[in-house]
Amino acid sequence: MKETDRLESLVDALKCLPGVGPKSALRLAYYLLQRNRKGAKNLSDSITDALEQLGNCKLCNNFSEEEICNICSSPKRDQHTLCVVEMPTDLLMMEQTHSYKGMYFVLMGRLSPLDGIGPKEIHLNKLIERIKNADIKEVILATNFTAEGNATAQYIQELLKETNIKITRIARGLPMGGEIEYIDSGTLAQAVVERKKI
Ligand SMILES: [Zn+2]
Repeated sequence: MKETDRLESLVDALKCLPGVGPKSALRLAYYLLQRNRKGAKNLSDSITDALEQLGNCKLCNNFSEEEICNICSSPKRDQHTLCVVEMPTDLLMMEQTHSYKGMYFVLMGRLSPLDGIGPKEIHLNKLIERIKNADIKEVILATNFTAEGNATAQYIQELLKETNIKITRIARGLPMGGEIEYIDSGTLAQAVVERKKI
């Protein structure tokens, strides 16, 4: 491989990152090669390691080294309540409130038809399977209070309409357009406690 091809292939690879076009990819490549070779090596090793070691938990879809993650395999959790969140960061936030002891499902996104993200991309089949195969009595929809988060919650509610499962939405304290990731854990804990049946 010639050096120009090598550089080109690095630039191409960097373009897989969201929001990185040809110009920023080139800038990043120069930066990594010229200014931060140690950081670049670290980044490359971490990516390889994460790709090899981390998969998705079969039950909650969160990243996990095991087939079933620690939360899903814990006997201390309430097996009858399932909280649906958009991203792993939202799950972490929920855990930090220490007010929720049920199970989770991580969508890894939100419905966003314009970006080509439909029900399949947010693993709704897996969610329905998960609910069918367990004795879930309540599903808490803890998607963000953005237009897309609300649409996602509404879509899931429709999917579960025919079941006997109680469906709730986290409530008070979360402003319109609010993203769970940026809300303090006290407010989030309150929103879980005061969730409303929908
Ligand atoms: Zn899990």
